[in-house]
Amino acid sequence: MNEAREGKMTEEFISRCRSHGLKVTPQRLAIFRALAGSKEHPSADAVYRRLVREHPTISFDTVNRTLLTFAEIGVIETVESHSGVRRYETDLMSHHHLHCVKCGRIIDFTDSSLDDIPVPSNAPGSFTILGKRVVFSGICEECRKKKS
Ligand SMILES: [Zn+2]
Ligand SMILES: [Zn+2]
Repeated sequence: MNEAREGKMTEEFISRCRSHGLKVTPQRLAIFRALAGSKEHPSADAVYRRLVREHPTISFDTVNRTLLTFAEIGVIETVESHSGVRRYETDLMSHHHLHCVKCGRIIDFTDSSLDDIPVPSNAPGSFTILGKRVVFSGICEECRKKKS
């Protein structure tokens, strides 16, 4: 991630936390940065393993609880998962996912025609749309190569 983008994300993160009355401690900032620095839509465990190298005193429980709080106030997003383990990302911009059912890899991509998909008229009830995400499940290139 380039520095300007990272700076902007951090700024947004801090102002969102403040507007929700959440204090931005150095530890919380480190957790956010560890997640923001990963393109892999990591689980709490993966974020913890990334962090513990530089912050040996941090506990898994702290990382886990902090990520849940971040997701609750909307500074990060929970993404779909095939394994039942909650995974997260900081990219709140509209984008879509290719999700490998073998290795669990989630690859981001953007497509304006997918962003413009209308809500089907036969969708049940009335629903206020806050976001849209299309998830393509399949087998990634690497897993396909491994098989053959
Ligand atoms: Zn794969
Ligand atoms: Zn994503």
